[in-house]
Amino acid sequence: MKRSKKAIVPLLGVLAAEGVIVFLLTCAWTGAIMSGENTAAMTPSATPDRQDRTISTPETALVDNTAVSSAEKKEIKKIYKTDKKTLALVNKKKKLKTSYHSSLIPICQGRLQASEYLYDSLVRMLADAGDEGYQYFIASAYRSREKQQALINDGVRKRMRHGASYDEAIEKTYEEIMPAGHSEHETGLALDILCSGNMHMDVSQKEEPGNRWLRKHCYKYGFILRYPKGKEHITNTTYEPWHFRYVGERAAKYMREQNLTLEEFWDGME
Ligand SMILES: [Zn+2]
Repeated sequence: MKRSKKAIVPLLGVLAAEGVIVFLLTCAWTGAIMSGENTAAMTPSATPDRQDRTISTPETALVDNTAVSSAEKKEIKKIYKTDKKTLALVNKKKKLKTSYHSSLIPICQGRLQASEYLYDSLVRMLADAGDEGYQYFIASAYRSREKQQALINDGVRKRMRHGASYDEAIEKTYEEIMPAGHSEHETGLALDILCSGNMHMDVSQKEEPGNRWLRKHCYKYGFILRYPKGKEHITNTTYEPWHFRYVGERAAKYMREQNLTLEEFWDGME
């Protein structure tokens, strides 16, 4: 279904002009999906994010120093200076500082929160995708450290109820859920975007034309596919076609051109 942006843009303008609390209008054009929130897969709190599932070799080096030349390092440092706020690196080894300010605003009519830095770009990206006939459901955005810890506690309790020892339970849980402070969702810059016809947060997303469109065009709007296929040994995370991360337009374009993950980009600053 083709959808005109003309109807959306004035609506955004009106809301901004009237000082209405900014909420993510992406949901306005995914209305059909939004109304079906009783599906378990759509409830972020009930769905520990598989983005946090790590591959079974946690000691694998996160960066490959040989991949970034000195000219690239110069460019990377330049980009970092302008996009510093949106280039925070968080992974299994790098914990987010408690002093980090996520600059949150409500999105999806208050159902979720995300960083204000990505808002305009997200609206543009999903409007353009909508013009191509693709619609989405944002399953997860910002997640607090407390929420992350609660997910871990739930996972441990569940496993212990099924007979696992505490040590076994925590080990298994950490295979699926990132430890508190290590989830990129805590920055407010990460989004799990599912295609409207497929609410499964798994690799089946990559077959969806809507997901293909996002993977191909997201860099134009400042997003990267955070855990790409073939870079698992660098991100230390399995391929996640649904997990998009806002880094800023300049950085996203550069990472795309140079085929760099965020870990490799950061390596260029050393
Ligand atoms: Zn995610």
